[in-house]
Amino acid sequence: MKRIAIIGTGYVGLVTGAGLSDFGNKVICTDVDREKIDKLKQGQVSSFEPGLRDLVIRNVDARRLSFTADVGKSVQESEVVFIAVGTPMADNGEADLSAVKETARTIGQNLNDYKVVCTKSTVPIGTGEKIRSIIQENCPQDNGFDIVSNPEFLREGSAVKDFLIPNRVVIGSDSERALKIMRNIYRPLFINETPILITDIVTAETIKYAANAFLATKISFINEIANLCDATGADVHVVARGMGLDGRISPKYLHPGPGFGGSCFPKDTQALVHQAENLGVELNVVKAVIEANEAQRKKVMEKLDQLIGKDLKDKTVTVLGLAFKSNTDDVRLSPAIPVIEDLLARGAEVKAFDPEAMNNMRVLFPTITYCDSLNLAVSEADAVIVMTDWHEFRGMNLEEVARRVKHKVLVDARNILNPRELKRLEFKFQNIGRPNVR
Ligand code: NAD
Repeated sequence: MKRIAIIGTGYVGLVTGAGLSDFGNKVICTDVDREKIDKLKQGQVSSFEPGLRDLVIRNVDARRLSFTADVGKSVQESEVVFIAVGTPMADNGEADLSAVKETARTIGQNLNDYKVVCTKSTVPIGTGEKIRSIIQENCPQDNGFDIVSNPEFLREGSAVKDFLIPNRVVIGSDSERALKIMRNIYRPLFINETPILITDIVTAETIKYAANAFLATKISFINEIANLCDATGADVHVVARGMGLDGRISPKYLHPGPGFGGSCFPKDTQALVHQAENLGVELNVVKAVIEANEAQRKKVMEKLDQLIGKDLKDKTVTVLGLAFKSNTDDVRLSPAIPVIEDLLARGAEVKAFDPEAMNNMRVLFPTITYCDSLNLAVSEADAVIVMTDWHEFRGMNLEEVARRVKHKVLVDARNILNPRELKRLEFKFQNIGRPNVR
């Protein structure tokens, strides 16, 4: 059992803290957001993530998991410190490392004994060494410490499962002592035969960016093939299945849609391109992925134009789905954002419904109408746009929707509705890359 501090109790930090405590470690999660910590102390998990609340409560009750707003104290009391603060996109596209640097300073100032400092945040290649220097500069006496890179691969919406049963764990370090401690922390996964990839720090940092850029590439690739299908009449789903049956390709991440969003792919692809440019290396594929994604984010409105034209004055448009994907309340860089912006700019009245993400979207768009249910949202709509692949939307009663809307006009940006059913109910509709599945 190790004493662990997690600095940054956001999506990744809370899942990591709860997961590592479930492995039997004694974990203290800390954050500069005092309100978040106060809520967690009262058993309130503010973000929606399946299974997370139960995992947190179970480990708090077992006295393995606790919370504090005192970052310094949490460092002092731990043998291993995980950095899980945000690394958002700066205005120039690079990763903003201010929170990581501040955390490194705090760790240095509170280094009262040997510690392993482990980075979970997604950080530019070479950040491990920067963290080492900052800690050294801020450390009143040299108590010794080691740097580890342990990138996180969890997906929001299935984060708990991804953390507890990962397909791999990557650990980068140049210290045998630190590696021994890290192996100990992840011991339950060794028993499950999870592949544990041990490497150096720079390679571990690179793996994270390379993995995210590759997944983003698959998404942009199938989106462009879907656009081709729109022009040729082919069915992109059958194309994707035909491709994915080849084991070298795999069917995963071959689902077309409105472009990727969220807190990772957009910022990580941008950050990777910037890092490479600073090193004089051209990442042409990743640049094209970003460009294709920006174009894809405009497709939804182009499809609405084809159905009802550009002028949306006096028209009510319903957006179903605000989260960047299903099973999360996260709206960071959600594809729904540019759609709502464009609808408002064209004079539409916007109604919206999402099972979990409405509170977060309210911060960005306080004036649109948020509805309590799907049925209320579609009532009297001139057009409906499906933006997120929630199960609730997959199973929507289209006959009821047809009865409630003012005009039967629909864009299915996730291809989750049955085109034959839409046709039978006489909807004018568009989807992504399935023009002839009518
Ligand atoms: P988040 O915004 O949900 O959480 C970050 C937390 O860090 C916030 O609660 C914030 O208050 C806190 N924080 C900021 N500065 C701090 C400081 N100086 N001291 C203590 N706390 C501080 O972000 P997230 O989605 O959890 O992502 C964290 C990191 O993990 C990022 O680098 C991200 O790229 C990476 N990551 C995210 C995911 C994901 O799906 N969200 C997956 C893998 C990796």
